[in-house]
Amino acid sequence: MSDLAAVSDLAREAADHDAADELAPLRAAFDLDDGTVYLNGNSLGALPRAVAPRLAEVVRHEWGRRLARSWGAWWTAPERVGDRIGRLVGAAPGQVVVGDSTSVNLFKALVAAVRLAGPERDEILVDAATFPTDGYIAASAARLTGRRVRAAEPGTIGREAGPRTAAVLVNHVDYRTGRLHDLPGITAAAHAAGARVVWDLCHSAGALPVGLDEHGVDLAAGCTYKYLNGGPGSPAFLYVRRELQSRFDSPLPGWNSHADPFGMEPGYRPADGAARGRVGTPDILSLLALDAALDVWDGVDLAALRSKSLALTDFFLRCVAAYVPEGRVTSVTPAAHAERGSQVSLRRPGAGEIMAELVRRDVVGDFRPPDVLRFGFAPLYCRFADAERAARELAAVVRGTGA
Ligand SMILES: *Cc1c(COP(=O)(O)O)cnc(C)c1O
Repeated sequence: MSDLAAVSDLAREAADHDAADELAPLRAAFDLDDGTVYLNGNSLGALPRAVAPRLAEVVRHEWGRRLARSWGAWWTAPERVGDRIGRLVGAAPGQVVVGDSTSVNLFKALVAAVRLAGPERDEILVDAATFPTDGYIAASAARLTGRRVRAAEPGTIGREAGPRTAAVLVNHVDYRTGRLHDLPGITAAAHAAGARVVWDLCHSAGALPVGLDEHGVDLAAGCTYKYLNGGPGSPAFLYVRRELQSRFDSPLPGWNSHADPFGMEPGYRPADGAARGRVGTPDILSLLALDAALDVWDGVDLAALRSKSLALTDFFLRCVAAYVPEGRVTSVTPAAHAERGSQVSLRRPGAGEIMAELVRRDVVGDFRPPDVLRFGFAPLYCRFADAERAARELAAVVRGTGA
């Protein structure tokens, strides 16, 4: 079959998939330019249309007119918005709080996890392929609590946990390869060894079902500006399983986590529930932008989201195989659905230059050193036609750069 015939077959197939896609109407809830193929929602999610008018109203009315009188409604927003995220990560109400960055929440979760362990548990196991911030934070948490860090491959990290392990910190989806790790299996194995597990959900929250309560996860943190579309630097979330909340000993016990913050007591008494994970005054504008951004999730079935995500990444891989000459790129994203998040990562020398050229052609993915091209498929708004065009442009760029 000629290349042109393959192109038109796959383009036609993409149009058929888009026409049959139940989630396709959600794209209209985003302010997206149809001429751009946006495959970077795993770094910064698209802008939901509801955000700008809601934020303008918050600024003009709640801040401008009502001023400090708005704190009555603002004060509980971290828990209220946390419950909305809870539905998306499988947490019943009262266990998720929004605020601070993922890095800060990982620090709180990890130190608290270690503080739950006995002194004989002197190691923290960390995913050897982790996003850097998790490793940096773990090293500091270890110094602070008198433990040491040991790196372990996520494939075997559950089995590596033993009688000396206080906590295990794992990325649910590897940011570089898009590999999905076995959250139920690793959690169960760590628990069997008597250790606590902290999951980093940055690349799974809003991309696939997580099932925090169902799988007995202890603690988790994740960001809201990727698949949850909260906006640049929108506050992160922290999950503390209900049974652990009364023993959650935060290393950052700011006044917002006090049982009676406005009592202004000199001594610290921790709040009950998810509020114990708070620190200082929440960044209300970002938090309420996130709140408005979450409206697009109302009624979204996470099983349907997952099916579309896998169909999109499968289809993109097929288009790449059909268009890009054999051997020019190598997928490092697992072929098995059970091991795949919502992105496809392709390796090729000179990937940085290739991505720059793709961006010039309005195909926006990103590059991660040393040689990884990342294409994120946010199932709420990505189209099969986007997958087809991205593969077609990639083939053209790769041919143009030779070798
Ligand atoms: C994006 C990302 C982060 C970001 O942390 P911030 O504190 O929000 O900058 C952390 N961990 C992982 C796995 C990520 O992908």
